Amino acid sequence: MQNEWDAVVIGGGVAGLSAAQMLGRSRRRTLVIDGGMPRNRFAAHMHGVLGHDGRPPAELLATGREEARSYGVEFADGAVAELIDEADLLRVVRTDGTMDTARAVVIATGIRDVLPDVPGLNQEWGRTVLHCPYCHGWEVAGRRLGVLATSAASLHQVELVRQLSDDVVVFTSEPFDETTVVRFTARGIRIVRDEVRAAHGREGALEITTASGDRHVVDALFAGGAPELDLGFAAGLDLARTDAPGAPLAADLRGATSHPRVFAAGNVTAPFGNVPLSMGAGSMAGAGVNGMLAAEDFALAVTARTAERNAAWEERYAAEGRFWSGRVNATVAAVVAPLEPGTALDLGSGEGGDAVWLAEHGWRTTGVDVSTTAVTRAAALAASRGVDVDFRTGDGAASVGGEFDLVLASFLHSWEPDFPRLRLLREAADHVAPGGRLLIVTHAAPPPWAREVPDHAPVMRTPDEELSLLALVPDQWQAEIVEVRRREATAPDGTPAHLDDGVLLLRRRA
Ligand SMILES: Cc1cc2nc3c(=O)[nH]c(=O)nc-3n(C[C@H](O)[C@H](O)[C@H](O)COP(=O)(O)OP(=O)(O)OC[C@H]3O[C@@H](n4cnc5c(N)ncnc54)[C@H](O)[C@@H]3O)c2cc1C
Repeated sequence: MQNEWDAVVIGGGVAGLSAAQMLGRSRRRTLVIDGGMPRNRFAAHMHGVLGHDGRPPAELLATGREEARSYGVEFADGAVAELIDEADLLRVVRTDGTMDTARAVVIATGIRDVLPDVPGLNQEWGRTVLHCPYCHGWEVAGRRLGVLATSAASLHQVELVRQLSDDVVVFTSEPFDETTVVRFTARGIRIVRDEVRAAHGREGALEITTASGDRHVVDALFAGGAPELDLGFAAGLDLARTDAPGAPLAADLRGATSHPRVFAAGNVTAPFGNVPLSMGAGSMAGAGVNGMLAAEDFALAVTARTAERNAAWEERYAAEGRFWSGRVNATVAAVVAPLEPGTALDLGSGEGGDAVWLAEHGWRTTGVDVSTTAVTRAAALAASRGVDVDFRTGDGAASVGGEFDLVLASFLHSWEPDFPRLRLLREAADHVAPGGRLLIVTHAAPPPWAREVPDHAPVMRTPDEELSLLALVPDQWQAEIVEVRRREATAPDGTPAHLDDGVLLLRRRA
């Protein structure tokens, strides 16, 4: 069985639930997969969490789940075993083999606290053995407090614990340096330089036995665990890590990691973080995912719309026999004739009239058009005229690549209001070789016989307007021709008339 989701959140602690809430509220199809082992499950109450002070951690998570569910978020108990990158999707495989796919994933799997290897510490974790003076210090303030020093960070913890009580003892198996001894002694802190061998709960207090056999009783012992991250399930994604203890995932403020579809929040990115920080990070990661997906939704829509527009051209060509005359446009021929031939790219080459003329006049020509039918007809025209033109089906200069001495966009108009003419022309400019030219020939005005211009008529701009809209870097381009040229034509009723062609010939400085 496989389900498709906008987002899968791995880990249903405070970070994961906050991300899920944001995603649910953004109407994203979201699944939370949770192993049900939040880091603070050992503590009966939590503190330092505004508005929830003293609340059991499990109660906050239950409320969080309820809230997320009310926005359509779904939940599954279980553990994720593997994350597989499938380009536009991530496959999420659970340990029981269940598979889901998601457009984005939030990793909020937290950390594990690996306590010093002292018998009894694990059993008392969250009761008389505490990890953080901010979370549980007030409750033991003024009592007999100990600190188990295992790293440089422990020295900072001693300073914080001393703020809570005058009765503080610090246990260390390594001698402190002189500065530390001076500072601790000045604050009345007792130093026990002996290895702690056991810690056992006794009637609400903790009895600590050292290597020498001495026993010390404290009401609480602060002992920082080493953070351990279990990210084996994401190994295939090679996510960037930081060099902080535990090598947490590297993520920015929106939770974005080194993988575009993977976001992360909570202790997995900040092992030192408490509940409020993890909630905030989760909330930002949920918004980060939604923002990424929203942008992707627009990009996908544009791609689909482009395909639809291109298909309409193909239908148009395929519906009739030859569409155009097969002759070069007179304005194109007049502007190009004096130029030294080189390589040329004809954008929107249609049935090949301009491209074949260019080839006949010495240009090594490539023609590109979105319609396969048009390209086939253009190739046939070139063959019939005995010239070689590289005709391709594609969308714009970017689909061809390379640089050309001449890029021609001749009557690149469309009746569709969302035709991205300016983007195509800017792309065309990017494919002009240094010293080469961009030639844009357009309908500068509707034909005189058109009494009314229909709403759906192609956008017609003067060459001046077009030049300013193109917004090319001025010192990289020199305008050689910016003018409207009048051309003789015959109206549909057979009477003589004229057409106004816009001509924009731009030279890219060498
Ligand atoms: C004893 C103790 C007491 C604490 N007390 C406080 C306090 O009073 N106030 C405070 O602010 N902070 C406190 N903290 C810190 C707090 O626990 C963390 O800040 C918070 O839990 C981090 O939230 P999180 O969502 O990142 O991770 P977690 O809460 O640890 O949640 C991670 C979730 O992910 C799940 N998971 C892991 N791997 C997978 C997998 N592969 N697939 C699916 N699910 C997975 C886990 O089972 C877990 O449910 C305490 C910490 C400890 C150790």
